[in-house]
Amino acid sequence: MEDESDSLFSTLFGKLFKRDDSVLEKFIHSAKRDGDLTGDEVSLLLNVLRLGRKQVREIMIPRTDIACEAVDEPLQAVAEHLMKRGHSRIPIYQDNRDNIVGIVHAKDMLRHCMLGGDPKSTADIMRKPLFIPDTKNVMDMLQVFRTRKIHMAIALDEYGGTSGLVTLEDVLEEIVGDIEDEYDAPRPDDIQVLENGDILVSGRTPLFELDEQFNLQLTSEQVDTVSGFVCELAGRVPYSGETFSTDGHRLIIKEADPKQVHWLIIQAVERPKADD
Ligand code: ADP
Repeated sequence: MEDESDSLFSTLFGKLFKRDDSVLEKFIHSAKRDGDLTGDEVSLLLNVLRLGRKQVREIMIPRTDIACEAVDEPLQAVAEHLMKRGHSRIPIYQDNRDNIVGIVHAKDMLRHCMLGGDPKSTADIMRKPLFIPDTKNVMDMLQVFRTRKIHMAIALDEYGGTSGLVTLEDVLEEIVGDIEDEYDAPRPDDIQVLENGDILVSGRTPLFELDEQFNLQLTSEQVDTVSGFVCELAGRVPYSGETFSTDGHRLIIKEADPKQVHWLIIQAVERPKADD
């Protein structure tokens, strides 16, 4: 049964998305200009609005990248695959990837290992998959994850074949950006000094770290990260290839998407020497 907070949530979001988003977006931008919202708050709110305009197929892991196993594989093989890929759930198929018949959860596997008892097959411990069309609206997907209390869905194409896989984390990342856990592959260093002396920096690098390491003095009252800093400078999310100048530095956007700046290069700019 839906509790009160669930129905309030659906009503609020239902009303919000029946409105003209462009009006809300203008309202958010003008609140930013008036200083009522910080850059980070603006990007969160705009990302929430964009959820209602996106389809699952734009954010899912495509079929070819799904770590899955055949139902006739023994539990040992499924466990090894789970450990190798570091995921906590693995879809199980019969015959081929177009026919997903279950999901094995690492916690169920652990329970099985700890409790022992009769040897079980993969089919014995798998759960029923949640199927959704890959055209499903991402905001609706979030609601389904909440109400069904399942955090992974298999997206189907128009012919009923497997199109991809989506989890609650994929939806939340659309709002807050990358979320990583202990098992995610390590990423390249956030700050790298290149051979020519330029600094390659990931957008999520905190401004204070740059200041501590290079005394760059890129500061802001509103934002904490380098990505936030250039967004604030531009008044929007900049495009790849754009260049901005600050006192003594040139910031070149190396990689960005419509929501955030992923990588940028910081170059020191020679200041004209003062006359003696
Ligand atoms: P986990 O922590 O088990 O990897 P999350 O739900 O936190 O699962 O998802 C993290 C990312 O990994 C998401 O992009 C999700 O789509 C992807 N993912 C989760 N399970 C699988 C899987 N079996 N095969 C491929 N990608 C997966």
